[in-house]
Amino acid sequence: MKNQRDNEKVLRYYLPVILFVFTMFFWGSSKKGTVLAASAEVLETTSSAIASTDSTTVQENQKPDPVAGLKASAYSYRKIRLTWNLSAYADGYYIYRSETKTGGYVLVGKAGPASNRFMDRTVVTGKLYYYRVRVVKNGIKSAAMRISCKTKPQKVKGLGTSLTSKNKARLTWTAVPNAQQYVVYRSLTQTGGYKKIKTISSGKTYYTNASVKPGITYYYRVRAVSNGTAGKVSKSSSISIPDGNKIVIVFDPGHGGWDSGACYFGYKEEDLNLEIAKYAKEELEKYQNVSVYLTRTTDWTFCNEDKAKDFKLRAEFAKSKNANAFISIHLNASENQSANGAEIYASVNQKFYTQGEVLGNLILNQLSKLGIAKREVVHRMSGTNPGQDYYGIVRNGVANDMLSMIIEHCFISSPLDISKVLSTTAGRRKLGQADATAIAEYYKLSK
Ligand SMILES: [Zn+2]
Repeated sequence: MKNQRDNEKVLRYYLPVILFVFTMFFWGSSKKGTVLAASAEVLETTSSAIASTDSTTVQENQKPDPVAGLKASAYSYRKIRLTWNLSAYADGYYIYRSETKTGGYVLVGKAGPASNRFMDRTVVTGKLYYYRVRVVKNGIKSAAMRISCKTKPQKVKGLGTSLTSKNKARLTWTAVPNAQQYVVYRSLTQTGGYKKIKTISSGKTYYTNASVKPGITYYYRVRAVSNGTAGKVSKSSSISIPDGNKIVIVFDPGHGGWDSGACYFGYKEEDLNLEIAKYAKEELEKYQNVSVYLTRTTDWTFCNEDKAKDFKLRAEFAKSKNANAFISIHLNASENQSANGAEIYASVNQKFYTQGEVLGNLILNQLSKLGIAKREVVHRMSGTNPGQDYYGIVRNGVANDMLSMIIEHCFISSPLDISKVLSTTAGRRKLGQADATAIAEYYKLSK
């Protein structure tokens, strides 16, 4: 009963509207115009009323449902991508575009029945575009779904900072296509508080920041601007401006996180390395004119499962602190439990060879005072890359122009070395203090 009443209602109230709209539709189609847009929504209401009540003949010629899930996004600085949900019975999709919301829409593309996307490659950065998408079925177009989008310049990538010889921060980055300006931001913390310090309109992809102060770490970010529209800011890049008189030492407690290092007799190298490094820092900070940093202060590492990348990031951290020396703290291990003593792995690089030999021997001398056997300062060359260091951490440190070495304080696998130093807090503290004393001697630091 209810359905019948509804049918009567449809005929009485909507039939004149349907006739009017169909007339308009065929008139509109013949003119290929966009006049239909306004009346389309009316037709949609009436046709769904019919669909829910009756007649396959009407359904065949009825207006298809509008497209669902329409989205638009700036795919690049000159492309906008539209996506939508596939409509089961569509013969295709028509995409119209205008630069004003209300009119002037032009057909810019057609998509086939199996396509749920359209890439508009004829847009200009910074302009706002309005789109209408219609489903087509048996030559009849659905009501239009509307969406707008604006392209943005791409995010700035490859931002790097370095120190000029005059202790100014120099920034460089990769050019962004179609960028007319770059805006440089600076902060004293990595996560927030960035302020605009420079707008570059010359197309240059570098900037030298002269207004920096010694002993301060600065963080930078850059974004591109096209036609007044700004892209996303880059990742931050930091630099510490050296204090002219200060020596900077970065201790690198080896291993950590997924990598425990050598494990013997219940001792883990990652834990002992960290402890020794903390004692070394504590002792060295008792001296004047020195800044000391650790690459890690917890059971953590820069890059899980990828040692090569981890070494690189540890060295880059040290470089960001402008380290004079990059000292990696380790313990040796051997299946032969009688192997014991201290050893240094210094660089084969000509620039650092002698420095490594001298500092390495000072460290071995200090360690031998604790009763640890003195082995030697080793300069091991890579077998595959002649002229380069075998040890990744040394190679990466030297590549960043720092005096770099590994201290193998003693053997974690040696019952003798364990009983001498590793088994007690006091012994482990003495190992760190020995490193600090030798470094202070090398750099002629005083307390
Ligand atoms: Zn190790």
